[in-house]
Order: sequence, then C-alpha cells, then structure tokens
Amino acid sequence: MSADGLKSRVGAERRAKIVATLGPAADRPLVLRALLDAGLDVARLNFSHGTPREHTARLRMLRRLARERGRTVAVLQDLQGPKIRTGALVGGRPLELAPNSLITLTPRRVAGNNQLLPTNYPQLSSEVRPGNRVLLADGLIELRVELVKHSEILCRVANGGELAEHQGINLPGVRLGISALTAKDRRDVAFGVAAGVDYVALSFVRRPEDVLELKRLLKRAGRRTPVVAKLEKPEAIERLEEILRVADAVMVARGDLGAEMPPEQVPVIQKRVIERANSLKVPVITATQMLESMTVHPRPTRAEASDVANAVFDGTDALMLSAETATGHYPVEAVRMMARIIAAAEASPRYGVPGRVRRSTDESLDVPESICESAAHMAETLNLIAIAVFTQSGSSARLISKFRPRAPVFAFSPVPEILRQMALYWGVRPVFMPRVESTERMVVGAARRLTEMGAARHGDLIAVIAGTPIARRGTTNLLKVHRVEK
Ligand code: PGA
Ligand code: MN
Repeated sequence: MSADGLKSRVGAERRAKIVATLGPAADRPLVLRALLDAGLDVARLNFSHGTPREHTARLRMLRRLARERGRTVAVLQDLQGPKIRTGALVGGRPLELAPNSLITLTPRRVAGNNQLLPTNYPQLSSEVRPGNRVLLADGLIELRVELVKHSEILCRVANGGELAEHQGINLPGVRLGISALTAKDRRDVAFGVAAGVDYVALSFVRRPEDVLELKRLLKRAGRRTPVVAKLEKPEAIERLEEILRVADAVMVARGDLGAEMPPEQVPVIQKRVIERANSLKVPVITATQMLESMTVHPRPTRAEASDVANAVFDGTDALMLSAETATGHYPVEAVRMMARIIAAAEASPRYGVPGRVRRSTDESLDVPESICESAAHMAETLNLIAIAVFTQSGSSARLISKFRPRAPVFAFSPVPEILRQMALYWGVRPVFMPRVESTERMVVGAARRLTEMGAARHGDLIAVIAGTPIARRGTTNLLKVHRVEK
C-alpha cells in the first residue's frame, strides 16, 4: 500500500458506490448474484418501465440474494415523474422520420404514423410556440414547431431518424405546467411504501417544493424514506441551492439534462452540482451513459473509462449504470469494470477525492460536524486503520463520509433500513450491531467486530464515534481514539 493511498486491512478497496439499474438483463438469479458479488451497492428500480409485478419480483429476489451473499444493498425506487412521452405507433412499428417532412403532435389517442404522432400531455399545445424545439428519443430526433392550432401542433422535422413507440419528449427552454407528481407517480409511491424501498427518486424536479411534496406524500404514508432529487431540468439547476437544502440526495441525471440543455453544459454542471452537494453534505449520484457502449461490448471505450474516473475525481459519492445493467448484454462485466475504474482512480496517489472542505476556519461547524471532521483529520494525523461510528439515523455516517476520511468508515446500527440507506454513502460500510448500552461497550464492541471482520488487528488505532445519551438521534458528541488489543 502506498503511503498516499488508503491504509486499511480489508473491505475498503473502493469508496465511491455503484448504483445499478435492475431490468430484464439482470432477472436471472445467476446474474443478480454476480452483480452483488461484483459490488452493486444500490439497486435502482426504474418506474418508467415495467409492471408492479416485475418490480415486486426483482425486489424480492434482490433482498433474498443480498442476504445470501451477505451484502447490504439499498433499493432505490425511481419515479417516472412528469415525463412527456410520445404514444403508441401503428402496429407498434418504429417510424422513419424524414428531414424536412411535416408531422403533427396530438393529444388524441390515435396510433401514430408519419403524419400524426400522439403524446400523453394534453396541455402541450397551450405551452409551446412556433420556433420551439421538440426533442424525441433522448434528443436524437429534433422537430421545430411551425404552427399551433387548437390542441394540435404542426412540426417540421429538423433532424430525422427512426422513432420507436413511447419515447421521451424534451422541450428545451419551455416551462411546462405539468405537476411534479403524476397520478402514476402517486400510485407508484404507494407501491414503494408497501414494498419498503430505501430511497425514492423524483424525476424532472423543477423546484424545492416538488421534493417537499413527495416528502409530504411519504410522511402521510407513515414513512421517512429519503428522497433523491433528479437534476435534469434547467429550472432545477437555477434553484440548486434550495433543492440541496431539502433533498436527501441528488442525482446529476445527465441523460435528460443533456437534452434539456446544451450537452456542453453537462460537464460544467456536473462539477458544480458535486461541489455544492459536497459542501452541503448531500450525497450525489452521477448518472447515465457512464459505460454505455458496454450494453453491446464487453469492454468500455477509453472515453467512458475516463468519464467514470473523472466523476470520482470530481468527488461524486456514487456512480450509476442504467441500460448497461438493465437491458445490456454485459451487465456483470459493466459493474466489475466500473468497480475497477473507481478503485484505480481512488488508489492514484496523484488525486485526492474531494469532499467537504476540511480544517476551514471560515465557517463554524456544529458538534456532530466538528466530531466527524476531526475524525477524518485524525485518520491522517494518527494513521487510523478504521473509523467506527454508531448511528441511529445514519446522519453521522453521512457526515464523516463527506469529509472523505483516508480510513474506511464502519457504520454500526441496529436498524436494518438505516443500514441499507448507508450503502449509498461514500466510503461507508454498514454493519449490523444490536443496541449497545454503554459507551465503554461500544468501544470494545467496535474493536472486537472490526477484528472479527479482519478490518483491524492488535495494535491498530481506530476512532469510535457515538452519541450520549445512547440511542437518541442527532446526539453525536463523542470521539474516542482506541488502540485495538488482542
Ligand atoms: P432516467 O434518468 O434514466 O430515468 O431518464 C436519468 C437521466 O435522465 O440521466
Ligand atoms: Mn431522466
């Protein structure tokens, strides 16, 4: 191990986490098992596709196999949100849209053809104007609005191509009135609540109120499921700071972001979102097309390998795979490859992984923040082998994680859903531990557990973080440096 690299015994070869989307390509137990072994930390169920029955089957299989493999994995339910789509096509067959041809968008429930294309958003005609661009299928096809007449929108094809059924529509620069949570989203939230998902992601967030609305809905259902705000609209970027203050995590959703805004803005926004999320201690996921070519090839392009590594260097907490694992030909290879690229980037002594600024005197920290910041600092000054944190809500684990300690973080909790949530946190390894009654027992218990796991040995220094009175939320006020004994 290099002096600059991570000093640890076991279990911390990789710090940034992997979110992988489940789908038909991962439906066989053999494949899902291999995904778990390859390092999947968070499983995404994409509610833009699939039936409740399929999602239930995936969730059950995941929980069963995670237990079998001894892995703590979070389930992230990704709601479709107010996504506008094209409708069905005649015979379900794709259309070939020729450049310069004319096509009419309609809210009528017709089967689409080269002249008439149905959409699922009846108000569209009152919200677009001649000259607006209409992007279809992730921006591959571009239409221009020529004329709006009643509920029909006449468009000219600017960039043609093949169009399949039910494709996403992006309208750059158009502010849509569509509500943040559709009727389908509300049904899906009820499903997620019943199934016990660990995170809910909201697509096309425009305002902090969108996030709060989902939180209210969850609260009414008796849950405090953390909400991931997907940043994929220019409106969300304009109100980034406010959204970061209400969201439990954010996603740089580069797919739709790069259609709603010029693609050249995406890398710049990615860096800014990660930097602000780290500063405000909000976990951030970087998503979409990270290893896209691996949907059809067993190896990534060099540009993709660089993209994954650069997201790590930007300081992202987690990186996401979409089609690569959901529908691609090489789901397991994609997770393995992502894990290797992350590990290599993190092992490179040339680059530290940025997080929240440490040892700053420009702003004051509260007690838990100061404790966590100090532990991260001590990991270097004392060459700590591990940081053990006892947590009821997971918040101190998230805090330490954001200070990007050199030592691995082992987060002990008796609460299964909190353990699963912590699977998303950078550098955090969740470990089940029954409730402990005294701080002295915590210290001894942590040392013993780390020794059993092979994460610490006689003579190693560890830090133990806890709160007293024990088992109350938000009381982190204790930091003990402990030398492990036999
Ligand atoms: P999606 O979101 O995969 O649900 O569209 C991610 C993105 O747009 O990048
Ligand atoms: Mn999206």
